Amino acid sequence: MISVVTGGCGFIGSHIVDKLLEEGHEVRVIDNLSTGRLANLEHQKDNRNLTIFQEDIRNKKNIESIFENVDYIFHMAALADIVPSIQKPEDYYTSNVLGTFNVLECARFHNIKKLVYAASSSCYGIPRVYPTKEDAEIKPQYPYALTKRLGEEAVLHWGQVYGLPVITLRLFNVYGTRSRTSGTYGAVFGVFLAQKLAGKPFTVVGTGEQTRDFTYVTDIADAFYTAAKSDIVNETFNVGSGGTYSINYLCELLGGDIIHIPKRPGEPDCTFADITKIEQTLGWKAKVTLEEGVKRILDNIDYWREAPIWTPENIGEATKDWFKYLGK
Ligand code: UDP
Repeated sequence: MISVVTGGCGFIGSHIVDKLLEEGHEVRVIDNLSTGRLANLEHQKDNRNLTIFQEDIRNKKNIESIFENVDYIFHMAALADIVPSIQKPEDYYTSNVLGTFNVLECARFHNIKKLVYAASSSCYGIPRVYPTKEDAEIKPQYPYALTKRLGEEAVLHWGQVYGLPVITLRLFNVYGTRSRTSGTYGAVFGVFLAQKLAGKPFTVVGTGEQTRDFTYVTDIADAFYTAAKSDIVNETFNVGSGGTYSINYLCELLGGDIIHIPKRPGEPDCTFADITKIEQTLGWKAKVTLEEGVKRILDNIDYWREAPIWTPENIGEATKDWFKYLGK
């Protein structure tokens, strides 16, 4: 079996690569290393079944040949984070929409078994119903959410029109080892872990009573693998943990002092996936509890030593455009 993993040097992508290599696949990674890190696959460097191509999915000509004889495609490459997506929408459009278009066009001319797309639960915006089902209203709140949604629509459209066997997985608050440490202010785990290492207080947004459906990354990798292997095509599934947990509880598990920062516009008070569809159709269910996942992270906390340390002051500066554009 031959698999292509776009974004395979990234946080979630590298865990999918691990899973595929474990299952005996030949794996070709496409990553431009803009936010992905070779260090994330360092432990696989002697594995002869792994090849890493440092290419950008925005350049179709440069990636076409990598798809020769491919069986499975895992399309993970994308730009993440809210604020930079507001500041540089064109970068997000070209990476997340045009990049997806290029991958679909590369896939179309090969007899593939499945393409699985990493879609985002941010497509639901501020949901009206919890747990949220796949047929809930689509309401992206910022360019990152919009571009991931447009990519998802393109994937499903290639399924509909060209018969490409596709599945899109809407991921809910993925956390785990190798979560991004890049310069931008982003997902809460990276922020809190670097603060813990520096002995600084956790910057809790609002009351900290808001909850998130934190889903452990190896469970996500299993969901991708299960979706690839199944006979199901042209479907969308939520991928969540089955629960939703407050930020205050997360702080308790991580252990440390707290400081409060203002609530941000456009943020839901809760994310919580209804996972009935994936459980019943694909037989997938998350295995790692939040308590166990946090423990695994704390055992590997040194990874975040290079991550930027966020304080209420530099967060205020970094999120100015968030309040400016979404706070109207
Ligand atoms: N959060 C927080 N402090 C931070 C960053 C995030 O309390 O410095 C909270 C945020 O309010 C949200 C949760 O952590 O409830 C997850 O935030 P993240 O940006 O990781 O994901 P998203 O809000 O997009 O679900």
